Amino acid sequence: MRSALLAVPALLAAALPASAQTGASGPATPAGQEALAILREAIEVPTVAGRGQVPVLAQKLKARLVAAGFRAEDVAFTPLGETGYLTARYPGRDRKAKPYVVIAHMDVVEARPADWERDPFKAVVENGFVYGRGAIDNKGDLAMVMAAIAKLKREGWVPSRDIVIGFSGDEETQMATTKAMADALADAALVLNADAGGGELSADGTPFVYQVQAGEKTYADYTLKISDPGGHSSRPGKTNPIAAMGTALARIWAYKFPPQLSPLTKAYLEGSAPQAPADIAPAMRAYAANPKDEAAIAALSARPEYIGVIRTTCVPTMVNGGHAPNALPQSVEANVNCRIFPGTSRAGVQQTLGEIIADPAIGIAFKDNGTLESIESPLDPRIMAAVDKAVHERAPGIAIVPGMSAGATDSMHFRAKGITALAVSASFIRPEDEFAHGLNERLPLATLDPGVKQWETVLRTIAR
Ligand SMILES: [Zn+2]
Repeated sequence: MRSALLAVPALLAAALPASAQTGASGPATPAGQEALAILREAIEVPTVAGRGQVPVLAQKLKARLVAAGFRAEDVAFTPLGETGYLTARYPGRDRKAKPYVVIAHMDVVEARPADWERDPFKAVVENGFVYGRGAIDNKGDLAMVMAAIAKLKREGWVPSRDIVIGFSGDEETQMATTKAMADALADAALVLNADAGGGELSADGTPFVYQVQAGEKTYADYTLKISDPGGHSSRPGKTNPIAAMGTALARIWAYKFPPQLSPLTKAYLEGSAPQAPADIAPAMRAYAANPKDEAAIAALSARPEYIGVIRTTCVPTMVNGGHAPNALPQSVEANVNCRIFPGTSRAGVQQTLGEIIADPAIGIAFKDNGTLESIESPLDPRIMAAVDKAVHERAPGIAIVPGMSAGATDSMHFRAKGITALAVSASFIRPEDEFAHGLNERLPLATLDPGVKQWETVLRTIAR
């Protein structure tokens, strides 16, 4: 997924000196043009789960890296079922130091051509955008990473230590390639993820704010189940599983998990308050200063875009029960979806759900879908300084705000190993143009030149 921060500050009319980063012209630099060529090539390989096309794309990427000067044996595709992951090692001066790893994903979400205005698997350049499935999630940034790395290699730059590219092949579905890749790259000193964070443009195309994703909430589904002998609906007894489940779900819906504040969410609230709407900014500042401030807690909790920033949330999302209009139900099953504050265990949340429900007849089971508990990454000042430098080259003066996202990205497999992972996409886009996973997905052409430069500067700075 391209995972937006939990709460994105609403746009204000920003009067910033940076030039507009939308526009109809194509890339002007050779590296930007190469990024566009890679992106076009990548969009036209339909790397949807089940189509067996990830290895095809990986071969094309490998050929480009080898053409740029990588040794063939340093670029490896590891198959895993019909997909797989690609790694490329860029040797540094200190071969023994733990590598810096840059990750992105090659696979895309399914797209039905009949629903799209243009063929989702043809790269169409129009109106200042590249259209196609994967344009923003995540082939655009993958192409910019590739172009930056290829440029550095051709120029003969040697990093202080090895840099490893890792492109996963089923981020949007199982993340089995991510898991395998994280195991293979478990010695990473740092992971930079191209698949989250990034720049937001205001309506007129001016860079407005830049987000660094440094943590994500833990995703968890719980199955609630109750069964009963049932019987004829004309002879109701003492128990009814639908009514019992209804009571349980209503209790969960009404419950508010305790407010929490971490170094990351504190930095997010303080950093984004200046861009936030005037009716919520004071609560953001007040909560960051004192997480026991009841008025601030109430104000933030009343807003769907902020409630998840300050607490774990659990909501009923599916229910299935009963078998006939005239029969007492014999079983009911419900799904409760939770987004858990980093650092809180899923077992702990399960126990809390049991206490909220307070009905021993209802069983609660954690539904494993392969997501992991993840901790937030520390905001390493040296890395943040490199990101600052790279972002401010293209967008002088804009706020850089660290934050937490609600979903599961490849980073969680590295964070779960205790590796710092920061997501620093180089895509700048207006929120109204962002259609990740949706129809008519697109990337602004104008982000390619400065985006490649951003990746180049980040890498040159951290590995100088
Ligand atoms: Zn993605």
